[in-house]
Amino acid sequence: MERIAIIGAGIGGVQAASSLAGSYDVTLINGEDALPYYRMRIEELLGGSGIESLQIHPAAWYAEKGISLISGHAVRIANHAVILSSGESVPFDKAIIATGARPRMLSLGRSDAMAIRFSSDVMALRQRLDGGAAAVAIIGGGLLGLEAAASIREHYDVKVSVVETAPYILPNQLDEETSAYLRDELGKKGIDIITGAKADKAGEGSLTLADGRTVPADILCYSAGVIPETSLAEASGISIGKGIIVSSSLGTSMPDVYAIGDAAELEGHTFGLALHAREMGIHVASVIKGTAAGYVPSQPMTQLKVAGIDLSAFGTKDGSRHEIDAGEGRAVVFEKDGLVTGVILVGARQLLAKAKGAVGKPFADLVL
Ligand SMILES: Cc1cc2nc3c(=O)[nH]c(=O)nc-3n(C[C@H](O)[C@H](O)[C@H](O)COP(=O)(O)OP(=O)(O)OC[C@H]3O[C@@H](n4cnc5c(N)ncnc54)[C@H](O)[C@@H]3O)c2cc1C
Repeated sequence: MERIAIIGAGIGGVQAASSLAGSYDVTLINGEDALPYYRMRIEELLGGSGIESLQIHPAAWYAEKGISLISGHAVRIANHAVILSSGESVPFDKAIIATGARPRMLSLGRSDAMAIRFSSDVMALRQRLDGGAAAVAIIGGGLLGLEAAASIREHYDVKVSVVETAPYILPNQLDEETSAYLRDELGKKGIDIITGAKADKAGEGSLTLADGRTVPADILCYSAGVIPETSLAEASGISIGKGIIVSSSLGTSMPDVYAIGDAAELEGHTFGLALHAREMGIHVASVIKGTAAGYVPSQPMTQLKVAGIDLSAFGTKDGSRHEIDAGEGRAVVFEKDGLVTGVILVGARQLLAKAKGAVGKPFADLVL
């Protein structure tokens, strides 16, 4: 059987392993201590549950599928082998780099600043909150920052502030009105959102903004985007840009080596969604099996995972804005050149499938 080495056991790596299992001799290299888990749900750990509750598959599943799941940190790929930091070498016929991304950390002068990317980050945050921290400042009012703020408030009675440079939260996904609605809803949950503000420096217990205001911050948490994890590719002489550069067949500049998920860069774009990591995991398996055409990423979809707030966004905000009363909620539709470019749903979960399907179709045909 052909040997496949997959580096990184996140959403993309596990999906690729699952899609290749049975037909190939698959080795999945896990760089974390825990069994592969759903990264998108790590904030649930703040509620006190253990990492087992987030496992993608139980330990026995890998053995049943014939996937060899090994622990290790890959440092280099050379001569059709992955070299681990332990010195061990994993030979392969084809390899898939699925090393994900790491959080962008800012230098504001606090060595104990945190980010939320790995389960170990959430466990460390939990420990500090249990240890009596009274105020958390989160830099970045994107999806992850807002979800983290809501999760902390759900489980701990602490002051939570979110600092965002843009004039309103989720500027890439939402229009200004929907963003204002969301801000009010999060405000009701006790989250203080400060927009149009730039964090300047962080001292012990507080964060100072560029306009001189201070925000209480026993814990300082960065949620200012991610950087594709390209160290392994770089050390192996594989071409990188923002991420690991791949062709539409997800191949890198090194023969027989592919890259997928948050680590990959396709036509100048990097990804940051589990949706695309999973899709690429399926796609790369088809490429290896010889059955795939070029990878075309599906429309991004955003769903805020905050209890009691039902908000989803598809596509972009290009063109003119139309507000539609959707019975149980509200839909905001964007239209350009007669086509639907994007849909935002507020409290209208029943329309998810229709809204997703509407993007790219004629606006005149839209039925929600
Ligand atoms: C809190 C949070 C919430 C999110 N919510 C959503 C959501 O609602 N919807 C959505 O679509 N996306 C969401 N995302 C983003 C989503 O989790 C990522 O897009 C997805 O996990 C990317 O999958 P991946 O397989 O490319 O990489 P990852 O899941 O990041 O996995 C990469 C793995 O590779 C390992 N690794 C790195 N380098 C090495 C090495 N040299 N050797 C061995 N192992 C290595 C890493 O430790 C990691 O385990 C969220 C992310 C976070 C952090």
